[in-house]
Amino acid sequence: MTDVLIVGAGPTGLTLGIDLRRSGVDVRLIERLPERVFASKGKGLQPRTLEVFDTLGIIDEVMAASSDYPVIRAYAGDRVVREQRMSELSAPTSEVPYPNLRMLPQWRTEDILAERFAALGGDIERGVALERLAQDESGVTAGLSTGETLRAAWLVGADGGHSTARRAVGIGLVGDTPPLDRIAIADLRASGLDRTWWHAWAKGPGEVASLCPLPGTDAFQMTATLPADGEPELSLAAFQALLDARSGRTDIVLSDMGWASLYRPNIRMAEHFRAGRVLLAGDAVHVHPPAGGQGLNTGVQDAHNLGWKLAAVLAGAPDGLLDTYEEERLPIAAHVLGLSEKLLRKGFAGDPDALERSADERQLTLTYRGSSLCAGQGSGGLRPGDRMPDGVTPDGRRIFELLRDPGFAVLERDGHVFVVRPDGYIGGIFGTRAEAGTYIASIGRHGRPIRG
Ligand SMILES: Cc1cc2nc3c(=O)[nH]c(=O)nc-3n(C[C@H](O)[C@H](O)[C@H](O)COP(=O)(O)OP(=O)(O)OC[C@H]3O[C@@H](n4cnc5c(N)ncnc54)[C@H](O)[C@@H]3O)c2cc1C
Repeated sequence: MTDVLIVGAGPTGLTLGIDLRRSGVDVRLIERLPERVFASKGKGLQPRTLEVFDTLGIIDEVMAASSDYPVIRAYAGDRVVREQRMSELSAPTSEVPYPNLRMLPQWRTEDILAERFAALGGDIERGVALERLAQDESGVTAGLSTGETLRAAWLVGADGGHSTARRAVGIGLVGDTPPLDRIAIADLRASGLDRTWWHAWAKGPGEVASLCPLPGTDAFQMTATLPADGEPELSLAAFQALLDARSGRTDIVLSDMGWASLYRPNIRMAEHFRAGRVLLAGDAVHVHPPAGGQGLNTGVQDAHNLGWKLAAVLAGAPDGLLDTYEEERLPIAAHVLGLSEKLLRKGFAGDPDALERSADERQLTLTYRGSSLCAGQGSGGLRPGDRMPDGVTPDGRRIFELLRDPGFAVLERDGHVFVVRPDGYIGGIFGTRAEAGTYIASIGRHGRPIRG
């Protein structure tokens, strides 16, 4: 029997695959699409996601391939009316080594994740879809499109907004598809346009177009708002016509269109992230509007929260530990969806603040305070459940470097003993090492809340 079947090789499934493989878990990862899709989609990597990527051993590749977000240059025709950064760039500190949002086309992020998964012995089985599943006390039986019937101890549905796994266990997505404009999006080349800026034109309300240079490529991601109804064409000529009309210019020539899509902003989430031996993560349980760049990032962090817990349960911890996945991640998903919705509505209302980003979107302040896995006291402004800041240990190693080894880290700081969970959050803060040891041992027995 396979330990874990992961359904979907998007950012969520790949992150989970890496996390499980680095703990030596036997994983199968299936992906419905037979070929890679080169889609820029979720191009913003938040600081907290960069920290996860540090732990997973891919930060150097991600930083080398990505760029800071360009300044947005807003025009009326060819006249510049505003230049604005989404948020001011900050210098790295020893506690926050990656303070800024980075831009990377989603296909490139997926490539880097896939390379790491392969280096850890993982294999993406492309052109293989989950069609049905059934579960019993000891495992999940999955029917695949190849005709294979696969038995796994656990199944994780990281299969996106139309998740087959989520439907199979009868969990719906509740929420809203606001009656707002749709957005046409395409990856293409644009001649005669400076790649230093993210160019944006607004002819009037609902008549917006923008071209954002994608790092590591000679392409731009073009977006244009479209009315809520109708069946617009997604051809190169249609994008050119939208650009010409909204910019009032005819000197920018579009070509070489690759991926293109039309989407309607959705704000939806699942009421549960677990049904027995089936766990759900990423877009399968929360579908975000693009505003604020939270979708991909929230999925990566779902996977990182789930990975160490699944590995612990497979190593003998009671499966009650997996209940803390929904307990910790569902409120975060709800909070993050609220943020995206606020930014989306500001954007469509033409609010000048709509492009400004706060600390919340960087996801460094998100916390699991109050979770049943939290124990002990607070120290120096930190409390159990908070993200552990990076820093240098007395033996000269970075804390994030210690977390590359997928176990608990025990650190002495300010006269207290901190237990840092494998996902980088503080599990407990104690007075002695013995108490810290008792706490770590208790996780293996986790079937009921751990307190104090
Ligand atoms: C047009 C568009 C623009 C976006 N823009 C942004 C943005 O600007 N910022 C941002 O943060 N996010 C954006 N997103 C959202 C972001 O792309 C998603 O949040 C992110 O891809 C979620 O990752 P995931 O791995 O959970 O799901 P997905 O990326 O959807 O991956 C799921 C995978 O599962 C596979 N699959 C599905 N069903 C099955 C099955 N039955 N069996 C096997 N495999 C299956 C799919 O083929 C897919 O590869 C955008 C999304 C879209 C569509």
